[in-house]
Amino acid sequence: MYDIAIIGSGPAGLSAAVYAKRAELNAIVIEKEYMGTGQIAESSRVDNYLGLYGESGFDLGEKFRRHAENVGTEFTEAEIVEILPQKESFLLKAADGQEISARAIIYAAGTTHRQLGIKGESEFLSNGISFCAVCDGAFYSEKKAAVIGGGDTALSDALYLSAIAEKVYILHRRESFRASAALQKAVKDTANIECIPNAVPTEFIGGKKLEAVKYLRDGKESCLPVDGVFLAVGRIPNSGLLKDIVCMDKNGYILADENGITSAEGIFAAGDVRTKTLRQVITAAADGANCVESARIFLSEKRS
Ligand code: NAP
Repeated sequence: MYDIAIIGSGPAGLSAAVYAKRAELNAIVIEKEYMGTGQIAESSRVDNYLGLYGESGFDLGEKFRRHAENVGTEFTEAEIVEILPQKESFLLKAADGQEISARAIIYAAGTTHRQLGIKGESEFLSNGISFCAVCDGAFYSEKKAAVIGGGDTALSDALYLSAIAEKVYILHRRESFRASAALQKAVKDTANIECIPNAVPTEFIGGKKLEAVKYLRDGKESCLPVDGVFLAVGRIPNSGLLKDIVCMDKNGYILADENGITSAEGIFAAGDVRTKTLRQVITAAADGANCVESARIFLSEKRS
């Protein structure tokens, strides 16, 4: 029986692992894929984590992982498919048959890429359509790429791609971007990025590979020839496992305060999967630390 099962191995989960060791709690990190460090691995560069500048998200994720390993964290690779609350603990069942029991859970399962749900999207996924500029950007050297979305991910991706591709378009459904002012300025200052606002994608077309994206603008349909498309239209919380166990907001984010305390005793939520205003690496890492402190207090109250 573990004191804490940490579900997720992104910055929130790994930070929780380090803090759990320091608190001398017996914790296990359950990661869906070996060495998976979550969304951070897809960031081309991280400029807003205190003390670091210009580090690639992949490298930063690896450093987080090594830190957790170096303090002696126990990891297991498993996809948890069911969480069963017991009298004084939780039983976690994995897809491969593993069963893990823990007195408390730190749930840091993050989010998944949202899709547009338009014609041609599933057909060209991984064949011209990608979610990850850092992973797939190199395929578009001297080619034309489009990024869809208007948030931090879309603009960061466009900037990353602008150094590789001949031309990068940003198709955004509204006039104004929700991305940070710094990213908006950088995009504006980049000659080979063209923004197409008020453009609602309607279809992806092509033959064996993606050839173009169709979109509606001011009631008129246009067709933009591109070699690749990067979808950056937001994320969906991976909270389904806790659907009947903890309270969530209407979008499925787990209701939790900065201490990670949820509506269910013994379950703490950290990182992007919880309700919060600012989803960043630094806030995820802070969540992991705060959740361990909440879990420590919870466990010591149970023992006394
Ligand atoms: P996001 O902020 O939710 O932005 C998603 C974008 O996709 C929005 O511009 C949205 O348009 C658009 N969109 C959503 N559904 C759409 C649809 N059906 N059709 C067309 N467009 C659609 O997502 P994100 O950019 O992935 O960022 C997620 C979180 O991670 C944010 O909190 C962000 O700050 C953080 N993040 C931070 C950094 C960084 O600090 N460098 C980098 C990446 C991500 P509307 O604007 O019209 O809603």
